[in-house]
Amino acid sequence: MSPTIPASIRKLAKTELHQHVDGSIPAAVTWRIMKRYGLNPVDSLREMRKLLVLQPEEEGSLLSYLDKFHYPMWITQFYENITQVTTAICAEAAKNGVKTLELRYSPIIHIYGGLTIRQSIRAVLSALNRAEKDYGIQSGLIVIAMRHHGPHIAKILARGAAGDAQHLHDRCGVIGFDIAGAEKGNAPHLFHKAYEIAGQAGLGLTAHAGEAEGPAYIWESIDTLGCTRVGHGCSAVQDKALLKRMAKDQILVECAPSSNYQTGAVARGERHPIFTFLEYGIPVALCTDNTTVSATSQNRESALFLKELGIDTIREIHRAAIGHSFIEKSRRKAKS
Ligand SMILES: [Zn+2]
Repeated sequence: MSPTIPASIRKLAKTELHQHVDGSIPAAVTWRIMKRYGLNPVDSLREMRKLLVLQPEEEGSLLSYLDKFHYPMWITQFYENITQVTTAICAEAAKNGVKTLELRYSPIIHIYGGLTIRQSIRAVLSALNRAEKDYGIQSGLIVIAMRHHGPHIAKILARGAAGDAQHLHDRCGVIGFDIAGAEKGNAPHLFHKAYEIAGQAGLGLTAHAGEAEGPAYIWESIDTLGCTRVGHGCSAVQDKALLKRMAKDQILVECAPSSNYQTGAVARGERHPIFTFLEYGIPVALCTDNTTVSATSQNRESALFLKELGIDTIREIHRAAIGHSFIEKSRRKAKS
């Protein structure tokens, strides 16, 4: 899938802070499980890939991008399947040199088969625990509330996430809380109660913001929700006061360049906001968002701006991002 990745990038220890389970299941794994249960909507893996991976003619809108998440959900309603697909994602991350891995997922869209919210959280954590042993990856789960489900469901999810918070467990746990899905019309401030619950439970706070909406949603994520990180945050470049604020308070932007161009958050040919963030001294992370939907990998995202940034800056981005990870500090191993 990826063009040749320079050895300097392959060798780097990487920090992945923004990767969705649903959008990152290797197509061959989705295909194998679908075939096993006779659920395949098409006859070949090649055709299936087209349904799972964003096609060039589908680029330019967040909603078309989000459409790609429907088929994986046919299989991720069952405990064993969820564990299996998460294990496959961790294996891919390990191959890409990821040492700190934060996966994210909305448990409530994985309970249609009868699982409880807690069981659907545990199914992911079970795979993460195994990955820590098998690949030496530090990991944790960020629980997502879908914006279009509304603030009340978000509160229920925040409470559900609290029960499996990292600090209550010896092993992998829930490390953070996020809102995702259709951004337009679903302002962050509507979800402040859910964030209050998540914050009180000791979870790290982030929000998808400034991907399909203007800087006002990023301000709200920081000021009203208390986020210390934002997902994408592309529209921040339109607001100098916001950029200064993010630099002052060291609000990390989880940048996912390929995804940003595909959703239209950044127009093709336009300079990626990561350069502005770096100029302002805003911390950034290089993230995949969805390795399958975006047809990318952590190696590929890390290599995208190699020419402009240089290997030392990319190494430093990954190293510094560990300090912004929600994985409880005591569980982190020192990285070089
Ligand atoms: Zn995302």
